[in-house]
Amino acid sequence: MSDSKEFLDNIKLEKVHNKDSEIKKVIGVISGKGGVGKSLVTSMLAVNSMRLGKKTAIMDADITGPSIPKAFGIHGKAIGAHDSILPVVSKSGIKMMSMNVLIDEETQPVLWRGPVIAGAVSQFWNDVMWGDIDVMYVDMPPGTGDVALTVFQQLPIDGIIVVSSPQELVEMIVEKAVRMADLMKIPVLGLVENLSYFECPNCKEKHYIYGMSRVDEIAEKYGISNVARIPIDPTFAALSDRGEIEDYKADWLDELTQKIL
Ligand code: ADP
Repeated sequence: MSDSKEFLDNIKLEKVHNKDSEIKKVIGVISGKGGVGKSLVTSMLAVNSMRLGKKTAIMDADITGPSIPKAFGIHGKAIGAHDSILPVVSKSGIKMMSMNVLIDEETQPVLWRGPVIAGAVSQFWNDVMWGDIDVMYVDMPPGTGDVALTVFQQLPIDGIIVVSSPQELVEMIVEKAVRMADLMKIPVLGLVENLSYFECPNCKEKHYIYGMSRVDEIAEKYGISNVARIPIDPTFAALSDRGEIEDYKADWLDELTQKIL
């Protein structure tokens, strides 16, 4: 972490300002690596917040692997108004911004390095006309390296949610995330164990495919009071693929959402 400390000392520490918007709470969603369900958790937390009547936004800061708009069935492009960009809006009213609604080809790979990514994120914050928002979820770049740190540095994040697979929990991702949060003086609001188990649709028995869950033990060790588990459920992948994530029905993140709002 000493390299990261030095890195942080060398970049601009000012928070960026957004002139047309009032965003009351900003929550970053992080993971140790890609593919563990960070975007899914971000989407579900946003859907829950909207269902609870909060004005909700998602900033897809996973610049090189943007997947949020597609999960909500949004394929159109963002449009400009005066010197701002208007966010795209989902069926239920969640405002969002992502590289996917700015670049021409959704499949175009974005091969940018850290500083350019940070520039894009600060533009998402500065130049998007977000309006009045109760809670914004930021789908962070995967990992706890310099790219993620730079994004943290750019945004006034109030707290983070850590998403992990059961396997990753063993690999100290939580410790790294907690250290990163400490460095930024941001609280860890919750720990989500995704792919936690598989529930047999017939007998309803839970199968812990990756071994018994250690999430409670790990949360206690690092003083994280809110824990949630999400099982392996093929309907999620199907809903995301069809752009219908807003129609998901499950209560796994209900308690966590209520606690962090
Ligand atoms: P990340 O943002 O961490 O890269 P995603 O949220 O994009 O990961 O998830 C990767 C893929 O795994 C997606 O196709 C998603 O639909 C699927 N997925 C994530 N969590 C689950 C789950 N609990 N059950 C079934 N599929 C899942």
